[in-house]
Amino acid sequence: MPPTALQPVRGTRDLIGEEQRRHQRVVDTARRIAALYGFEEWATPVFEDTRVFSRGLGDTSDVVSKEMYTFTDRGGDSITLRPENTAGVCRALVSNGLAQAGLPRKVFYAGPMFRYERPQKGRYRQFHQIGIEVLGAAEPLADAECIACGWHIQQELGIAEGTVLEVNTLGDAESAAAYRAALVAYFAGHKDRLSADSQVRLEKNPLRILDSKDAGDRALLTEAPTIFEHLTPAAAAFFEAVTRHLDRFGVPARRNPRIVRGLDYYSHTAFEFVTDRLGAQGTVMAGGRYDGLVEEMGGPPTPSVGWAAGVERLALLLEAGGLTPAVPRPVAVIPVGEAAEGPALDVAQALRRAGVVAEMAYKGNLKRRMERANRSGALAAVIIGDAELAEGVAQLRDLDAGTQETVPLAEVPGRLAP
Ligand code: ATP
Ligand code: MG
Repeated sequence: MPPTALQPVRGTRDLIGEEQRRHQRVVDTARRIAALYGFEEWATPVFEDTRVFSRGLGDTSDVVSKEMYTFTDRGGDSITLRPENTAGVCRALVSNGLAQAGLPRKVFYAGPMFRYERPQKGRYRQFHQIGIEVLGAAEPLADAECIACGWHIQQELGIAEGTVLEVNTLGDAESAAAYRAALVAYFAGHKDRLSADSQVRLEKNPLRILDSKDAGDRALLTEAPTIFEHLTPAAAAFFEAVTRHLDRFGVPARRNPRIVRGLDYYSHTAFEFVTDRLGAQGTVMAGGRYDGLVEEMGGPPTPSVGWAAGVERLALLLEAGGLTPAVPRPVAVIPVGEAAEGPALDVAQALRRAGVVAEMAYKGNLKRRMERANRSGALAAVIIGDAELAEGVAQLRDLDAGTQETVPLAEVPGRLAP
């Protein structure tokens, strides 16, 4: 019996054709725009010591408690496939001895992340993120610049019309403690109406209830106290400065006191760019300030801010907006007869060196090769037969106009170069 065809693992996908072109567009654009803001790209390992995430993200986060791909390797070490990259970047800052000087450091990254979640549109077990981190900057201008860079990337992609920035502050430690107490008092009065998950959150991390996706919890939230009533003057001033800078950057923002972010390490600014075009998976870019994370990795206090965005979700917005990048149209080089093959190859190489996409089929007569050229959407065909060879020329056919002219071989690249 022949072997059965194997399938990709549930929640993972092959990126082929249009899909890969959209992903590529997202990553290339983000990389280019982030560089304009002075971000340098880092690549950290796809797997880390499990403690990088359990310390970094906090044991009560959904990611650590339910979603990590953790395994013991053959050497007996506990390894986790990275569910996000902020903890890894902070670990790298410390392990490369970069946390002591030269701050702030501005880091961009792009790559696959892994979370054991229920797969659905815009939610996968292997997905991809782009992200930026400003490490070692306590100023509210850093928060605003990060957000402006994210907004710039979305504008450059052509999808910014469909997303809205929602910002919140989680305050400083004192504000957060006062707010936590107020939340506990409020929810304690409605404990029986909370979901089972949120009853646990009430004990362990009541702020997390604000992030609940349960409809009953969300109904209770409309009456819940907000952080704004519990901010210290310093925390309120920080938030005011962030929103003032955002104004200056021209990024439209909406205040949303429900945004807390799913991970434990945030303080002050928390934000999300959301869209109503992707159903339940409406958050495309999310981040905030994390002032304790580098310390969790064994480094000095290093106030930092950043965001991560889901490449799949941004790519879905490109698709919805009819913004799928086209395949570049090639030039087909067509030898007719064996003697022309070598010279045709030379022409194909000269075209490629001149920045022109050139295709030469491995076999076939003139008719087959022309059919193939038309199928591939070729702009032009360069046809070289024995008669052309004798005179050192080629037939240059414009496949859109249907016109043809004779051109010296040496002039072909110049005629077609962009
Ligand atoms: P969600 O509430 O959608 O689960 P999250 O709060 O877990 O998101 P973050 O950890 O902040 O997400 O990750 C940043 C971004 O990465 C998200 O806004 C989203 O665009 C993307 N993302 C997160 N998890 C997934 C996933 N499983 N599949 C695809 N994209 C994801
Ligand atoms: Mg999640």
